[in-house]
Order: sequence, then structure tokens, then C-alpha cells
Amino acid sequence: MYDENDQQYLDCINNVCHVGHCHPKTVQAGAEQMKKLNTNSRFLHDNIVLLAQKLVSTMPSSLCMVYFTNSGSEANDLAIRLSRHHTKATEIISLDRAYHGHVISLIDISTYKLDKMVDGVHKKPDFVHIAECPDSFRGKYTKRDHPGEDLGALYASNIDDIIEEIHKKNKNVTCFIAESMQSCGGQVIYPPGYLDKVFKSVRAAGGVCIMDEVQVGFGRVGTHMWSFDAQGVVPDIVTLGKPMGNGHPISAVITTREIAASFEACGVEYFNTYGGNPVSCAIGLAVLDVIESEDLMGNAINIGEAMGKRLHELKEKYTIIGDVRGVGMFWGLDLVKNRTTCEPATEEAAFVVKRLKEGHILFSRDGPHENVLKFKPPMCFDLANVDTLVTNLDRIFSELNMGKENSCES
Ligand code: PMP
Repeated sequence: MYDENDQQYLDCINNVCHVGHCHPKTVQAGAEQMKKLNTNSRFLHDNIVLLAQKLVSTMPSSLCMVYFTNSGSEANDLAIRLSRHHTKATEIISLDRAYHGHVISLIDISTYKLDKMVDGVHKKPDFVHIAECPDSFRGKYTKRDHPGEDLGALYASNIDDIIEEIHKKNKNVTCFIAESMQSCGGQVIYPPGYLDKVFKSVRAAGGVCIMDEVQVGFGRVGTHMWSFDAQGVVPDIVTLGKPMGNGHPISAVITTREIAASFEACGVEYFNTYGGNPVSCAIGLAVLDVIESEDLMGNAINIGEAMGKRLHELKEKYTIIGDVRGVGMFWGLDLVKNRTTCEPATEEAAFVVKRLKEGHILFSRDGPHENVLKFKPPMCFDLANVDTLVTNLDRIFSELNMGKENSCES
């Protein structure tokens, strides 16, 4: 990235310009299509069909129906509509710390925003049920407090409790919605088996499972196109966004034939003025093409290995790093004031981000305490970039001058 003075920045934040800022192929695809037909004509354009087919080819076979939308929020809002029409139930289970979008239906289920609202106007509705965030470093059940225990099962049992409460009120679950890995909540990777157990419980209760891949999809994990796939689960509805248009607003909802049929049977057709316009679809096709032709998933695997090794070396050196977690192009460093109490090192995280920016490296922090350093760069990030980043982190952590005296392990 370059600023107005041509100063170069190393972008470790922007997961929207997925295949690289202004990638020539995505720019060209958009410009070419804009010259021909620039609007949704209300007739089926080839680009819509081609993009839908291409997306479906990357999904488990049950997920074969595609709706095009324009933002992650629109996609998640539509996903909830689909779940309501399919299940005829009302109750939504969402994870603590989640963010799913800026519209009212999603602020309702996003404690990432709800918890910060101070004017009392927008309160969590009764039909929304917030489950524990399955963060095994800083959540209710940690590896420290529950060594050797099945954290996936412990966190999943919280969902069972919620379902029981819902039934006691003579209500039914419509859906469980979560990111496949929780990004806004602090780069949280769920304990093994968690999603599988939750999906079983939710489905047994008649609900559907929605995976939000808005931040973590499109090959970011490297080994798989979709990060739910890397965890061995098959959702009922998947939502896509951010990287899909490399910055151009396009998103999608992908679901099963049965759920789409229930939606169709509601009597109101799906219409969206901009959703699936041919320019957006041309760009979406170009993004998928670049992911493949430049082997960006292979790159994510290599970068993930390098990041893991280098970040764990940093953790050996600096006790301020309480936890290192990640995969592919998705990493988090949970900074702690000391490793015994694991008190969040919020000011220190702010300091690191500020110092990096002074060195022209863009980095962010997140999580409820804003102490988790967050890595989610464009997928063209390379090994030399990893070296630049880690060398600078090393320098800045040494400036923080933390001791090495304690022992709490993640
Ligand atoms: N889901 C997740 C996980 C997100 O991170 C975001 C945006 N940060 C959204 C949904 C909403 O997407 P949009 O801003 O495109 O509406």
C-alpha cells in the first residue's frame, strides 16, 4: 500500500483486498464488464451463473443454491431470513464477542457492538441467546484451568444448556450463527470438536447452522477454501463477503436445496437491485481465478508455517506474549501483563500497533480487551514480508522490556 506521498506500507490488516490491492486482473475484469452492461438487467446474465457455479464447486455438495448480496451484513441478514422460513422458529444462538454486521438484525446478535453501546437504545432482544466464546486461552474454560480436558465438549455443553432454556420457554431454535474462526472476538480458533458437537445439538433441536466466512473464507486458512471445511463440518448456510470482490461490494449466501425451497415457499421472491450485477460477478470470478492461478492457498500454507515458527520463537523470548494462535494467513498474539494472571496488556498492544505504524507496517488489535494483535493480510503476503514484520515485532517487544520471570502456559 502507498500513501499520497508514495510512502510504502506493509499491509497486515486488509483482508478485503484479498488477492492484493488493485490486482490488475480484478480491475480489468470490472472495467471490461462496466463497458458492456453495468447493471442487474433483471434477466439472467452469464456472469451470475458462472460465478454461482464456480462458488458451488468449492463447497460441500449439499450447498448448491446461491443468493448474491452486496455486503457481509446483507448476506447474514438474508441467512437469518432463510433460517426462519425454513424452521418456522424464532430463537437465534450467537457467540459472545461476535460481530456479524451493522444492520439492526445483526447488531441484535453481535455483542462485539452491543456490549459497547452506552445510550441504552439498542438492547439484546429476548429471542437472541449468547453462548460462551470458545476461547481456550481467555474464555470460561481454558487450557490452564482444564488441562487435558475436552474443551470442545465443555464449550458445546453451554449450547446444550441454552437449547434447554429455550425449550423451557416453549420456543424453538431457528439457528446457530458463528464465524468459522472468530476474528473480531480476538482471532479465536475453536477447540477441536466444538463445531461438530454444536452442529449436532442445534440440528437435533430443529435449528440450522450458519457459518459466517466473511473474514475467514476464500482460502485464508490455506489447506481449505473455507475454514469450516478445515474443521470437518458441513453447515446448512454459509455467508461470504469482504474478500469476494477484492474491495468491490459483493457478497453471497449459499445454502441447501431444501432451505432454498422453504424460502421460495414463503411467497415473496428474492429481489436485490445490485445483488448479482454483472460487474460484481465479473470481479468475483477474477478473484477466484487469481486465487487459483497464483496458488494463493499454497502461499497461505507456507506463510502460516513461517508465521507459526517465528511467532513461537518470539513467545519464547518475550513473556508479554501469552498466546500465539493461528493458521495460514490468520494469526493472533494475545498480549498479557504477566503470564500468571494473564491480565490483558491492552496499552502495550496499542503501543506495538503504533510503533509498527511508525515503521510503515499496518497492524491491528482486537478482542474484548483490545490486547490481541491481529494478522490477516492480503493473500499475496510473502516470506520476505514475514521477515520484515517479525523483525520489527522483535524490536518493539524488546523496547517494551518485559521480564521473562513467569510460567503460565497457553
Ligand atoms: N461478518 C463478519 C465476520 C465481519 O467481520 C463483518 C464486517 N467486519 C461482517 C459480517 C459485515 O460485513 P459488511 O461490513 O460487509 O456488512
